Amino acid sequence: MNANKLPTNILIQGQRMAGDGEAEAVINPRTGELLISLPQASAEQVDAAVAAARQAARVWKQTSPGERAAMLLAIAAGIDARAMELAQLEALNCGKPLHQVVEDDVLATADVFRFFAAAVRCQTAPAAGEYLPGHTSMIRRDPIGVVAAIAPWNYPLMMAAWKIAPVIAAGNTMVFKPSEQTPLTALVLADILDAVLPPGVVNIVLGRGDSVGSQLINHRHVRMVSLTGDISTGQKVLQAARRSIKRTHLELGGKAPVIVLADANLDAVVEGVGRYGYYNAGQDCTAACHIYADASIYQPLIEALAKKVSSLTFNQADDRCNDLGPLISQRQRNSVASFVERALEQPHIQLLAGGQIPAGPGFYYQPTLLAGARHDDEIVRREVFGPVVSVTSCPTAQQAIDWANDSEYALASSVWSGHIGRAMATASQLEYGTTWINNHFMLPSEMPHGGLKSSGYGKDLSASALEEFSVARHIMLSHR
Ligand code: NAD
Repeated sequence: MNANKLPTNILIQGQRMAGDGEAEAVINPRTGELLISLPQASAEQVDAAVAAARQAARVWKQTSPGERAAMLLAIAAGIDARAMELAQLEALNCGKPLHQVVEDDVLATADVFRFFAAAVRCQTAPAAGEYLPGHTSMIRRDPIGVVAAIAPWNYPLMMAAWKIAPVIAAGNTMVFKPSEQTPLTALVLADILDAVLPPGVVNIVLGRGDSVGSQLINHRHVRMVSLTGDISTGQKVLQAARRSIKRTHLELGGKAPVIVLADANLDAVVEGVGRYGYYNAGQDCTAACHIYADASIYQPLIEALAKKVSSLTFNQADDRCNDLGPLISQRQRNSVASFVERALEQPHIQLLAGGQIPAGPGFYYQPTLLAGARHDDEIVRREVFGPVVSVTSCPTAQQAIDWANDSEYALASSVWSGHIGRAMATASQLEYGTTWINNHFMLPSEMPHGGLKSSGYGKDLSASALEEFSVARHIMLSHR
């Protein structure tokens, strides 16, 4: 794609304009070359975006759920109409295989808008009634006001949808900031939103976290901050929020344990981990990145998995053959490489596949499998966010559960077993926002996604997200 054809304009008050701030380099992760230098929003433009959202809030909060739903459906149709352009741009900016973006990201993005169009029209609340004699009480669900939503680089389009759709469905207005590393598809989304929504309902600004992001989370007219990102960024959001008691919605990191019981179907485990440990080059907060395997099946599992991981393809000229792409940046690739180097300094850890930076341009890292890891090893306890899966042998199922729960992260997990009762009993003991059984990774729009512990709080997707981005208010009417 020609750099002249890449989108550049931010969206403030229904106007498309270039940022007035410093330019930020957007890099092609497949080549390491500059894609485009994009000016960030200036401090004045960020202020203008918040002011536009504040002004639009007065009218937007009075629209009916039906009116908002119709606009969300029109946005979904706009995404469908530009699906291939969005997919190509996402693949270019993130290095993802195009077929995966077409089949997964773009379809899911449109579906999120369609889901919230439906959900906002059928919200439920406790029954209105006379809870005190002579008085009728009812519950309203009202918007919060201006929401600042800040997204990471791993799924730029989907993260934009997860944030924008429930926020505006619930009657709020907002300023959205994509990651400075992956801003391109948000700028096409800006066209689609601008064609449908009244000016100021969604404003999209570009910029780095320490400039534009920091200004947004500290802004006195922002009533709520929604962040998907690193734990340390979540801590900054909380520090900023305490000054003006802003609401916060934090989706932070993850380290998903995969518990494989003695009676699991190992072919299914190998298929599942081979795909969802390495999908998006492992840059996924729910990636199937650490296995606790029952000691009785540990050896056959790691042998089969090593074969599978060694067969995963990347950096093929025919993109349709690629299972995974590069990491997003050199920094991220080097961080992944140094996790593996430190792991291999432990004499008990064995490298069964990958473990190298391949020769050639781009930020690739070989799909990597490490066996023999112990529960206290850094590779087991910290989020790598790359194509690296580690395996620990467990003497009992209870030990696997205890180890899985002994983690700062608590976003997603999975249990693999041929015995449904045993699988359910194991799932019921896990302290994770999501537990899949004999599967890993699937997230339908209807189901809530979010973590516990340091993985954050607040739910994305599902009717729960509408509750996150609205407030319950009690109205009481006296009969006298
Ligand atoms: P990051 O925290 O560095 O950046 C996320 C966003 O926050 C970016 O837009 C960035 O510009 C902004 N930001 C950074 N510093 C800021 C500041 N001081 N003030 C305001 N905004 C600031 O995270 P990342 O590296 O882009 O993404 C990877 C992380 O995101 C991983 O830890 C991953 O687990 C997490 N993640 C979580 C989920 C989830 O659903 N829980 C989903 C995707 C990614």
